[in-house]
Amino acid sequence: MPMYYEDPYLRELKVRVISRRGDFIKFDDTILFPGGGGQPHDTGYFKGDSFLARITDVRKDGDGIWHRIEILEGEPGDEGTLILDWERRYYLMKSHTGEHVLYRSLEKVSNIKFVKVEFDIPESILFVEGNVTLNEIERAENIANSIIGDKIQVTIEKRSIQDTGDVRIRRDRIRDEEVRIVRIGDFDSSACSGIHVKDTGEIGGIYVKRLRYSRYNEIIFMVDSEARREIEFSKNEYRRIRHLLNEYSSITERIKNMKEEIEKLREDYFRITETMFSFEKKIVDNVNVYYTTAEIGDFKGIQKRAYSISESERCVIIIGRKSMGRVEVINSTGIDFSWSEFIGERNLKGGGKVNFMISVPPERFESIFNEIMDRIEKGIRGSPL
Ligand SMILES: [Zn+2]
Repeated sequence: MPMYYEDPYLRELKVRVISRRGDFIKFDDTILFPGGGGQPHDTGYFKGDSFLARITDVRKDGDGIWHRIEILEGEPGDEGTLILDWERRYYLMKSHTGEHVLYRSLEKVSNIKFVKVEFDIPESILFVEGNVTLNEIERAENIANSIIGDKIQVTIEKRSIQDTGDVRIRRDRIRDEEVRIVRIGDFDSSACSGIHVKDTGEIGGIYVKRLRYSRYNEIIFMVDSEARREIEFSKNEYRRIRHLLNEYSSITERIKNMKEEIEKLREDYFRITETMFSFEKKIVDNVNVYYTTAEIGDFKGIQKRAYSISESERCVIIIGRKSMGRVEVINSTGIDFSWSEFIGERNLKGGGKVNFMISVPPERFESIFNEIMDRIEKGIRGSPL
């Protein structure tokens, strides 16, 4: 059993080089975890009297555990000391054990299924399937923090795959006959290859920063000092929001109402623009050319209005908005302006056929817009573009 399992708290170990492969080294033993159970590999140093190398990667293959080294000083000899980046590893151990506690707590309050977990510093992400609400997250977080407060022993046992009983296990993931079980008192047992702390008290607290709905439900959490830092930050933010809104009852209700109001205003703004927006107009050879560079008006509303004009008469409509870096040409004349070359020569981006959209950097907006107007006028008059 490698030393990282034997004693997860060992920060230094005297080692001998067994084998070298390019910039990878295999030692007779190691305290650097090669990664597993969502936990990333460790980093550290290989140090001797006359050399120092950084270990940037640790990988396990059928042939053993390999350490990628980056020489900082001298030439790595056959004997030396492995030094673990302890701060980083210890945070990952706390996060990992915290995840076991949090997941089990969530299981108690909601109907979820484990998908995977990705540990990082300072935030880790627990991916679950099934519906989970903020309310359930809050309840689970409370349970988890009381388990942390109870300072429960975390122990490791080996069991045969046939004898795993009520252990949380993903059988599709297990290849070996013997399974490594991480037990948190009577609270939870889970098959896991990661590195954990020996007492839940060491986790120091867990805080769910965010619940994000994507393909799965992503529960973003942090532990210990990072959790406390985040809580402190949130507390101050909350006070600022209260102050800003001058609201001392329910902030959530107030913001919900504000969101609804904004949505309604947006909808009104769209409707007003759609029905009342007026373009500037010039007539070129009996063709109406409408244009605008107005910064006011809902952009989608202006588009909608332009489309309805273009459906009822033969015209060209140019909508430019500098702040969006965008020019749109809506064309119902049947004249082929073919903009591809135009945008290619000017190193712009755009696309479309009858109606064309061009992205214009704001600093070039005026000149490009004038060129477009010019080109349309020439096109209508039948002069070569
Ligand atoms: Zn684990």
